[in-house]
Amino acid sequence: MNHTRSQALQTRAERLFPGGVNSPVRAFTAVGAAPPFVERASGAYLYDADGNRYIDYFGSWGPMILGHAFPAVVEAIVRAARDSSSFGASTAAESELAERVAACFPVIEKMRFVSSGTEATMSAIRLARAATGRKIIVKFEGCYHGHADGLLVKAGSGAATFGIPGSAGVPEEIARLTLALPYNDLVAVESAFAAHSHAIAAVIVEPVVGNSGCILPAPGYLAGLRKITERHGALLIVDEVMTGFRIALGGACQLYSLEPDLVTLGKIVGGGLPVGLFGGKRCFMDLLTPLGPVYQAGTLSGNPLAMAAGNATVGYLQQHAAEVYPQLEATAKALVEGVAREAARAGKPLTANRVGSMWTWFFSPGPVTNYADAAKSDTAAFGRFHRVMLDRGVWLPPSQFEAAFLSTAHGEAEVAETIAAASQAFERGGE
Ligand SMILES: *Cc1c(COP(=O)(O)O)cnc(C)c1O
Repeated sequence: MNHTRSQALQTRAERLFPGGVNSPVRAFTAVGAAPPFVERASGAYLYDADGNRYIDYFGSWGPMILGHAFPAVVEAIVRAARDSSSFGASTAAESELAERVAACFPVIEKMRFVSSGTEATMSAIRLARAATGRKIIVKFEGCYHGHADGLLVKAGSGAATFGIPGSAGVPEEIARLTLALPYNDLVAVESAFAAHSHAIAAVIVEPVVGNSGCILPAPGYLAGLRKITERHGALLIVDEVMTGFRIALGGACQLYSLEPDLVTLGKIVGGGLPVGLFGGKRCFMDLLTPLGPVYQAGTLSGNPLAMAAGNATVGYLQQHAAEVYPQLEATAKALVEGVAREAARAGKPLTANRVGSMWTWFFSPGPVTNYADAAKSDTAAFGRFHRVMLDRGVWLPPSQFEAAFLSTAHGEAEVAETIAAASQAFERGGE
C-alpha cells in the first residue's frame, strides 16, 4: 500500500503539532507506523490521501455509530448551518436533544451540554464536590475520563498507550485527592471508604471500560458500587461518554439497571460534532449557576450544528433501536468471534472482550478483567497484527489499550474481508 502523500503530510504536520497530531492517540507510535491522513469517509470506509480505502473500526473513537456521512446527519448539519453556526443564545434544538437524552436515560432529570467528554467529567466532579462538601474522588486504574488534572491518575487510553499513567504538570496536591483503585474489585472500594469515610465526594467509573481496551464489569460489580456510595453519602458518577447509546440506547444504565447520581455523555450524543453532557438528579444539577453556587459555562455549549447532528443521530437510534442494536450485536459477534477463531487456529493466544459493538482483541491468554491483566498483553504482537491489517485495508485503533467499534454501515462483506485479513496476519505471525 502506497503512503507517499500521507508521509509528506505527516512531515508537514510534525512541524506544526507536537508529534504531528492534535490528540496523542492518533499517532501510530505504539504500532510502529506512520498514520494515514484521511481525506474523506463514507459508511464503513475511510479513504486516505493516497487513495487507499480502509474498513473503519474506530469510528472517530466512538461517535460514528451510524457510519460516516450518514445522509440524515449530513442534511441536518447543512440545514442548521444555513441559519448560522452559532448564536450564544438558547435554541429549541437544545431542549429537543435534552428530551431525547432524558427519554433514553431516565436518571438524567436535568443536564448541561458542554463541548467534550473532558468538560463533562470535570464539571460532574466539581458538582459532586460541591454537593457533598468533600474532596476525594475515587477512580479506577486504566479508566480514562478525559484530561482534567484530577482524572489523569492511573488513566487509560493514550496515557496507558504511552506509559504516562500520571501526567507531568499535575500538582501533587491535586493528584493526592484522587484515589485510583483496581477495577472489578469491590473489596478495594470498601477499604477506601473505610479509610476515608467522610472525605470521598464521588466514585467515577467507566461502567464497561473502553480505555484499557474493552473490559466487562463482573456480575454485581456496578450494583456494588451503587450500594457502597449510597451507604457512605458519596455520589456515583457513571461515565458513559463511550458506552452511552453504544452498548444499548440507554447505555450501561439501561443494560445493567443502574441508577447513578450523575451521568456523563459525549461521542455519539454529538453525532460526530463536539458535544459532551453531564446530568442527573435535579437536586444536584440545580446547584449550577445561575440557580446555585457551582460555576460552569461554555461559549459554544449547545452549539446549533452540534445539536442538529446530535438530534439526527440520537433521533435515528431512538426510532430504529429495535433493529439497530440487534444488528450491531450480530455483526460485531460474527466479526469478533470469527477473528478469535482464526487466532485459535493459528495457535495465537487471544482474548476477545466484547459488549455489543465495542470490543478488544487482547494479545494475551487472558482473562482480562482489569488494567493489570490488560497490561500483560503482548503489545509487540498487537503492533505486528495492526500493521498487517492496515496494509490489507483494515484500520483498527492503533493501540492495544483502546476499544474498537463498528457501525450500522458494517455488514457481512466487511466482516468476511476482515476475518480473511486476520487469518493472513496470524498465519504470517503478523510479520
Ligand atoms: C473519550 C472519553 C472521554 C473524553 O472525551 P473527550 O471528548 O475526548 O474529551 C471521557 N470519558 C470516557 C469514558 C471516554 O471514552
